[in-house]
Amino acid sequence: MALDIVRIPAFSDNYIWLVHDADSGETMVVDPGDAAPVIAEADRRGWTISAIWNTHWHPDHIGGNQAIKDAHGASVIAPAAEAAKIPSADRLVAEGDTVKLGAHVATVLETPAHTGGHISYHFDQDAALFPGDTLFAMGCGRLFEGNAEQMYAAMQRFAAMPPETQVYCAHEYTLSNARYARVAEPENAAIAKRLAAVEALRAAGEATVPTSIGEERATNPFMRAASVAELAERRAAKDAF
Ligand code: ZN
Ligand code: FE
Repeated sequence: MALDIVRIPAFSDNYIWLVHDADSGETMVVDPGDAAPVIAEADRRGWTISAIWNTHWHPDHIGGNQAIKDAHGASVIAPAAEAAKIPSADRLVAEGDTVKLGAHVATVLETPAHTGGHISYHFDQDAALFPGDTLFAMGCGRLFEGNAEQMYAAMQRFAAMPPETQVYCAHEYTLSNARYARVAEPENAAIAKRLAAVEALRAAGEATVPTSIGEERATNPFMRAASVAELAERRAAKDAF
């Protein structure tokens, strides 16, 4: 059966993803920056969280780890390259490792750039991607510890995934990203159309994610950058936008 993927808003603009496999009864959570809303949602559904999957060490992604471990007995899977910054980790993973939820298998992709050891989780059979703070709807993460070359490589890997792949972004940054995208590619009609749709959704207080790889290929100026230099230029422009 298909995975149940539940979006939990946290802080001002984070999304935490609670993922349940009805066949096995297993539940995991991606990047729980805050424990309380996650535990409340899992308890309401009668789900026990057996695993926490972290993409990177930032506190808005790992802050709830220990409380969820204590409450549900979850074990924490985290990027090996950031082990020192994620003391609650139980299993460290790197490029090509596989992580399972019941019979559903995700591959670990090393996608450094936002942080030095950032990873993404790709369920290829399920066409689901959890890119942490690497890929956002119409945007990409800031380059805090890595560089444009790494981000470009990550964008190319994501772009090569099937277009129907659902992308479960970790933040609601779409409106700001869409406004910048319009400036970056003023001739792109798909961007103009999506900006209007995003404005309407946000005005109604609705979420704009998940997105899909196909939509990003058409409207994400970072995934669409033709070179490392163009991505770098666009990232710098967005930082100052
Ligand atoms: Zn981050
Ligand atoms: Fe974040």
